[in-house]
Amino acid sequence: MTAHHWDAIFVGAGITSLACAAMLVKRDPSARLLLIDKHIVPGGYASTFSRPRAEATFDCSLHKLSGMDDEGNLLRILRGLGLEDALGLVRPADYFCAHHADQSLLLPNDPAGVQALLSARFPRQATGIATFFDQVFTHGRNGYHQFQMQDGSFEPDMAQLRHAHRHLKSRTVYEGLAELVDDPFLIELLAAPGIYVGGYPEDLGYLYYLHVMYATLCRGNAYVTGSSQRLSNLLAQQVIDAGGQLLLGTAVEQVLTDGGERVTGVRTRRGTFHAGQVYINTSPHYAASNLFGSEVALEDTISRLAALKPALSTTTVYLVTDGDPSTLGVAHTESMLFADDPAAAVAARRAAMQPGAGEAASEHAYWQCSPMEVTNYRALDAKGGNVLCLNVLDSAAHWPPRRTPAYREKKARAAAMLVQRLQRQAPALRGHVLHTEVATPHTYARFTNNTDGSGYGAMVGTSLKGHTFHHGFPVRGVHFLSAWVAGPSYEAAFGYAEMTARQWTRQTARA
Ligand SMILES: Cc1cc2nc3c(=O)[nH]c(=O)nc-3n(C[C@H](O)[C@H](O)[C@H](O)COP(=O)(O)OP(=O)(O)OC[C@H]3O[C@@H](n4cnc5c(N)ncnc54)[C@H](O)[C@@H]3O)c2cc1C
Repeated sequence: MTAHHWDAIFVGAGITSLACAAMLVKRDPSARLLLIDKHIVPGGYASTFSRPRAEATFDCSLHKLSGMDDEGNLLRILRGLGLEDALGLVRPADYFCAHHADQSLLLPNDPAGVQALLSARFPRQATGIATFFDQVFTHGRNGYHQFQMQDGSFEPDMAQLRHAHRHLKSRTVYEGLAELVDDPFLIELLAAPGIYVGGYPEDLGYLYYLHVMYATLCRGNAYVTGSSQRLSNLLAQQVIDAGGQLLLGTAVEQVLTDGGERVTGVRTRRGTFHAGQVYINTSPHYAASNLFGSEVALEDTISRLAALKPALSTTTVYLVTDGDPSTLGVAHTESMLFADDPAAAVAARRAAMQPGAGEAASEHAYWQCSPMEVTNYRALDAKGGNVLCLNVLDSAAHWPPRRTPAYREKKARAAAMLVQRLQRQAPALRGHVLHTEVATPHTYARFTNNTDGSGYGAMVGTSLKGHTFHHGFPVRGVHFLSAWVAGPSYEAAFGYAEMTARQWTRQTARA
């Protein structure tokens, strides 16, 4: 393999790389591509791990593909790759079930149904709720077609764009929602899908968020039978079938250049590989600090990267139960558990971020006060086992180093606290948990090299200053390709990959 010259090398085989490589060889079957990943399976976050003794397979990320109805971008792209049938798509009836105090609200997978349900539950807020859904269908829809706007296949209404730019762009989700409704629980509830993209309402940009709602609720969602690993494996196979290769269990140590101007390949412990195009799938902060030699003038990139804030990380508790979780009180594919006092959540998170705030303040804010997302994987794909996954957004900052007693104690504390929250909602679970395992922000960082263990690339806040870090990158032939440039989610990964593959076709056509 070392003797080969490749047309392009991908540093990392996460979902954005796999999607791009598969689309690229479909458009240009002669393209010779090499994907290198330090992990032993392809997919990055789009992968699984198994615990045979517990008869369980855990999905590391996926519970909801967005854009999966007939007008959805992701379904269109997957169809183009001939993958729709092979994925065995599962389409849950519900968006999620919200639990607050003793009440449950089952949000259907249909925006009009959600609007009607919320207007009935919060009659005083009905006008604000209606305006929110109007905004989702106008500005959210425009944002959803961002990649098509760039290639000219979607023509937005310019007046809508101007309005959004003037009135919505500078607002956080919290500010945008607080302008429309004043019930603290309703604000937390409408903002809860922010957990899909790694941000709380005070972090995320409102305009961006409208597009998240549009993508996940209005354009259909689905799960893959066989998990995210099946999707990654199918994409990898398409690349291999076209003569490409996957080199797993191999970290890229350096991206090589001809004196700092043009990329020439990469170096790994298994040899040097040559290519005129290198696509970087890792976190850009990690790449800038670790992957380039001193001949590359990275000062400008590094100073821009200072403004690119990572999205939050996640603490995940994986549970295996001794029976179907649906019979143990976790009836729906997805549940969102809200704290008793939703108004306290924002204040608790602000307090946790103050310098000198102790660990207890962070645990209280992230683990207890904020929404907790629960996926019943058994209900999505029974073959994975009786698996439940509990997720809270979290920050690496309050976690002690791995392999220390303090770290182990904290993991046990996290598991106890999150399981207790779930058992309060589903008391029948007590005594039925066979296996418990915890992934922390450090776990996510260790497996993927994502900055601070971010699971969703960069935080998409109100300022997009840092997002241009790769413009004018000093080494020709180096491209960035990940959630850090595409935005979080599988759908964004495929959208960006499609755009990148199109650019490739144009590049080779010009050559
Ligand atoms: C808990 C969780 C749940 C989520 N749920 C959903 C969901 O339901 N729906 C959805 O749409 N999105 C979801 N997401 C977001 C989605 O998973 C991510 O946006 C997406 O997978 C990121 O893909 P990526 O291509 O940026 O690469 P990553 O997955 O970050 O992969 C980067 C790859 O680079 C490799 N790498 C790093 N350094 C090197 C090196 N030096 N040499 C070689 N390889 C290297 C890593 O091993 C890794 O494989 C979730 C994320 C998390 C964390």
